[in-house]
Amino acid sequence: MVLVVVRETLLSALLGTNWPREWLMTSGWCHRSPVLDDDGLAVVWSSVLAASMPGEREMFAIEVDRMFDGERAVSGGALVTVDEMRIVDVAPRGAQPPESCEVTRFEDATLLPGLIDSHVHLCCDSGPGALDRLPEFSKVELAAIIEDALRAHMAAGVTTVRDLGDRGWAVIDWRDRNRSNVALPTVLGSGPPITSPNGHCSNMGGEARGVEQLRQAVVERAERGVDIVKIMASGGLMTPGTDVARPQFSVDELMAVVTEAHARGLRVTAHAHSLDAIKDALAAGIDGVEHCSFMTESGVVVADDVVADLVSTAIPVCPTIGLAPGTVFPAELVELLRKVGMTWDAAARVYGGLHKAGVRLVSGSDGGISPAKRHGILPEAVIHLVEGGVSTVDALATATCIAAESCGVADRKGRVSAGFDADLLVVGDDPLGDITALRNVQAVFVRGTRRV
Ligand SMILES: [Zn+2]
Repeated sequence: MVLVVVRETLLSALLGTNWPREWLMTSGWCHRSPVLDDDGLAVVWSSVLAASMPGEREMFAIEVDRMFDGERAVSGGALVTVDEMRIVDVAPRGAQPPESCEVTRFEDATLLPGLIDSHVHLCCDSGPGALDRLPEFSKVELAAIIEDALRAHMAAGVTTVRDLGDRGWAVIDWRDRNRSNVALPTVLGSGPPITSPNGHCSNMGGEARGVEQLRQAVVERAERGVDIVKIMASGGLMTPGTDVARPQFSVDELMAVVTEAHARGLRVTAHAHSLDAIKDALAAGIDGVEHCSFMTESGVVVADDVVADLVSTAIPVCPTIGLAPGTVFPAELVELLRKVGMTWDAAARVYGGLHKAGVRLVSGSDGGISPAKRHGILPEAVIHLVEGGVSTVDALATATCIAAESCGVADRKGRVSAGFDADLLVVGDDPLGDITALRNVQAVFVRGTRRV
């Protein structure tokens, strides 16, 4: 590992034009993106030994016995050809590959689209109190945390993440610096979630009070080029002093956010544990619900009329279930969950019931906020859904084609199909028969380059 520190002016001279940085990133020579530190110094980490050479990205093909194409199981396996960053052909196993195209055959393995984690917190470092410690980090430290987080997601087969809890604009800035970076997963982001003063995750920097400030918050996000707007419609489990069973905004306030966002071509997703907050978000015309845990003062109430609205609007609901294997809950959290009448197994059954009723589920891990919800546990969220009664095919779709639609990237991600980004995952065995095979990652390709 080589650490290079240069003055801002020198960095501008070096990287002010696109080609050197583009080359550094796309060739894999620079594993850490250049960032400006608070004191005006620029830091560039370069990891030459771990880098891949540009010549690696020749046309190649992958042959497997089984495939899940993002929507369904493809019987008889497949031969998938990749050129540059795209899938160019999907043929039956045993088909003739293009001339001089190298074929890698994975024995007793299943090919899937790279997974999409619809709900992560890249600025959080997966340690205890990760959300509370956010204000302690400098821009340089946040960039390093973001990249470590992305490597953990990639190791689990995730090739696209949607960040729904930035610290300031650290993730959005990182995304903007790394548009052509194929060394790490694709990043989408909301910027800091809009929240009430001292509300859930207010230390991320998204506080707003009243309709005018809320509209302004959306305008600011649109100008920053966010991929989606996130609003904290209820309190959260991890912010003391906020109430998971209560809304943080009125319907009128939520509606102001939705109207302003839609006028700018942006969707809005609402963090909503509380039943009332889910109702209010639906009344305001929201485009997605995070957590959706139906909490009330007297426990969990899965109200039929709300479920019917979720079904008829077909908006994506992200349960954020799934825990790091071997997780032991801290006693306070067990007590908190007991108070609201929830256990993790019960949660899986609630979401299994929603799926059966026709609610459109997407998978997201909430990765980064604690050791139990560390980065790279999206497969556990999918496995948890199956434990809650969802079929393996439907559960896998929540982390592939449905997640791609919900994240606005359905034209290029979430499917093994010609013309799509060559984001691919190979796992041992058959996750369609036994979903825990998702843990058995054998290879991960990010836009045509093998990274795992
Ligand atoms: Zn979250």
